[in-house]
Amino acid sequence: MAENLLEIRKLTAGFATEHGLVKATDEISISIGKGQTVCLVGESGSGKSVTSLAIMRLIEYAGGMILGGDIHFQGQDLASKKQEEMRSIRGDRIAMIFQDPMSSLNPVFTVGEQIAESLRLHQDKSAGEAMKMAVELLRLVGIPAPEIRAKQYPHELSGGMCQRVVIAIALACRPELLIADEPTTALDVTVQAQILDLLRNLQEEFGMSILLITHDMGVAAEMADRIAVMYAGAIVEEGSALEIFDQPSHPYTVGLLQSIPGFEGERGSELYTIRGTIPPLGQLPSGCRFHPRCPHAMDICRSQEPPDFLISGEHRAACWLFEDKPVWSGTNERGGKR
Ligand code: SF4
Repeated sequence: MAENLLEIRKLTAGFATEHGLVKATDEISISIGKGQTVCLVGESGSGKSVTSLAIMRLIEYAGGMILGGDIHFQGQDLASKKQEEMRSIRGDRIAMIFQDPMSSLNPVFTVGEQIAESLRLHQDKSAGEAMKMAVELLRLVGIPAPEIRAKQYPHELSGGMCQRVVIAIALACRPELLIADEPTTALDVTVQAQILDLLRNLQEEFGMSILLITHDMGVAAEMADRIAVMYAGAIVEEGSALEIFDQPSHPYTVGLLQSIPGFEGERGSELYTIRGTIPPLGQLPSGCRFHPRCPHAMDICRSQEPPDFLISGEHRAACWLFEDKPVWSGTNERGGKR
């Protein structure tokens, strides 16, 4: 197995609300090996983006906080770093791409200036040198006539080109870890495929690791080495992409896979949906947090939260259906035994 670049252990992050502290991630553990792509999948509101903000320690700027756990990145615990220390890591060793390229870019600076800024800040390049490198980065991410494009403003570029610019900014300092939060959701389908191809090629060239956040199992199928399925603040299943697609075990994962629209089936037949909606994070049900929506819920599911059971190899699922399996050794402490 690849050496881990990032190891998150029992990370709890949340927000202070008028009803008290609300946990958006509840003791989650994820590892990302060097050069690996790990996809964090789940519906909106499952805590995926909070996880990425916590890793970058941007959660404090969003009004949240880290309540417990560690984020080990190359031997350093990011969870305990001061913000000024994080500023030299963010954008340099760890970079992030957000969902909407238009709101990630500053409308009053040219795209060349925005790429060059990162190089001046983190790599101490002169203005001229940084701008030359910015043009090369635009070429690298497949933007035609990069010398001309570098002098243009975001509103002069299409959505797909803007996302390529955002990727160029993220890659400017050759990060070891790239966090991509729904990087293709705001783009149309053909541009989505181009951006995913670009990310894969650049990953190969730079040898970086990627944490890809998506609600789209099709994107995860194309990109992931490993998949972590998140529901209502917890990781409910994790395994290699092959294990998750060949042997989905947690009923939530099974539901997500069944919800992918296919070409089979009769015209006019209903698409599969998981009944109900994700609960508000401050109002989680007792026991298994998925039980009100689960077609297999048993009595124990309503009263006791399941630990992670080891399905096989490095494949785990937090579901009482697997209580004959051993408990995963890195299990959280939320779950209990009968
Ligand atoms: Fe369903 Fe029970 Fe498994 Fe939860 S623990 S997913 S309710 S079977």
